[in-house]
Amino acid sequence: MPAKTIEEPARQIPIYGEYEIVVLGGGPAGIAACVGAARAGRRTLLIERYGFLGGMGTAAGVTNFCGLHANVHGEMRRVVQGIASDLLARIDRLGGLNAPHLVLGKILAQAYDTAAYKIAADDLLAAHKVDILFHALGAGVVMRDERRIDALMVETRAGRHAVRAEVFIDCSGDGDLAAWAGAPFEIGDHDGGMLYPSMMFRVNGVDPDRAGEAWRTIPALMQRAEAAGTHRFPRKGAIVRPQRSGIEWRVNVTQLAGPDGRAISGLEPDQLTRGEIEGRRQAVQAFEFLRTVPGFEKSYIVDLPPQLGIRETRRIVGDHALSRQDVLGCASFADSVGVNGWPIEAHVAGDVIFEFPPIPESRGFNELPYRMLLPQGVDNLLVAGRCASMTHEGQSAARVSGACFAMGEAAGVAAALSLSCNTGPGQIAVEKLQQVLKQQGAFIGRDQAVPEGI
Ligand SMILES: Cc1cc2nc3c(=O)[nH]c(=O)nc-3n(C[C@H](O)[C@H](O)[C@H](O)COP(=O)(O)OP(=O)(O)OC[C@H]3O[C@@H](n4cnc5c(N)ncnc54)[C@H](O)[C@@H]3O)c2cc1C
Repeated sequence: MPAKTIEEPARQIPIYGEYEIVVLGGGPAGIAACVGAARAGRRTLLIERYGFLGGMGTAAGVTNFCGLHANVHGEMRRVVQGIASDLLARIDRLGGLNAPHLVLGKILAQAYDTAAYKIAADDLLAAHKVDILFHALGAGVVMRDERRIDALMVETRAGRHAVRAEVFIDCSGDGDLAAWAGAPFEIGDHDGGMLYPSMMFRVNGVDPDRAGEAWRTIPALMQRAEAAGTHRFPRKGAIVRPQRSGIEWRVNVTQLAGPDGRAISGLEPDQLTRGEIEGRRQAVQAFEFLRTVPGFEKSYIVDLPPQLGIRETRRIVGDHALSRQDVLGCASFADSVGVNGWPIEAHVAGDVIFEFPPIPESRGFNELPYRMLLPQGVDNLLVAGRCASMTHEGQSAARVSGACFAMGEAAGVAAALSLSCNTGPGQIAVEKLQQVLKQQGAFIGRDQAVPEGI
């Protein structure tokens, strides 16, 4: 029998750098976290495994911001501001931002070009003097003691390195850093079932005049094709929408399950491998159908993104887990550090199910408590983004970009504050954090007036 493990010899690891704040992951949460920390004058490093920023928004071809807006008593408002506004303005200046569009007649989303997003994010971080280490995969931690991280280990083309910091922020989306440091986490629903991943793709060469408002008709056309037996689709709830130019559309129609019907796990390399290949196969299948839609006859797949889109993996256990009730009941929290206006969006087997807070009776957004960002058991760590403390249902809403920007900004500012107060992130005065966030233009709910306009 071959041995199941192998012993790796201990070795001396070079220290890449010593920082005040290190952020793992450059998605919406990581981008905002770095800027929040660096604005306070803290020496900040962002570590990202790819060679560009944006997270799922670029690496998985999402190309659409959700959760920046809320349906406030029937009126659309942009409720996520602060650093997100700065980034959006930069994307817009590059000509890469669509006007917001209505989703299901109830809420706004806003499409963008991935190229513009990547460039705008580079510019934003450069403007705030954030150091970046691209092509570096976070691979483990060395603890100073049971409750404090000493260094994050990264694998780079130049080998393994250690990066030291006073405070770490896990914006990996998967809670990698928190898990390595021993913070408790949950995965999926009561049965471990996660939101299903999707392989996004974009088509070009669409005839915009003939396609018209095809996003309204495509779901029904798909149902008809299935009933007629000409095509089979892995899920309902197709999202096929134009990008900035009407000749280019994004397509969100696939759903990746394993042989047991459960969602492909973004934490299992073999499942991820199958998911990537099956995702591309599903994309081609969906495209064959799309070419039958008026206006799409001459279209072609212009982009399959670098990776499968993962919606959910680990979620840390903090002192408050944002829940379905919090989202649907538009909850308020004394320690609010931002807001989420996106509804429950559950990617379940074969379908996508939306649930909104009552319209127009409700204010349409919930507050995000600071406790979501504080993992248990590790004192110099914050966690922001889709792996923050939420229930499975709560995460289906607050995982989208808007709330991740808000959480990231709060985590970055909190990390900086903890250093000025010479205390852990868990001990800072939340009122001070709220005050700084408001001064920086963030909307955190509470006693603030809801921002006007979209
Ligand atoms: C198919 C799909 C469609 C979606 N549609 C929308 C939509 O229309 N609008 C919307 O707003 N949201 C949408 N979402 C959700 C949204 O994109 C994500 O939930 C959001 O990007 C999460 O942000 P984040 O910063 O927490 O993590 P992520 O965006 O996942 O970013 C994490 C970053 O960390 C990096 N990273 C991870 N682990 C490591 C490591 N060990 N070492 C180094 N780097 C690491 C990753 O490369 C990545 O850049 C969609 C998601 C999917 C999968």
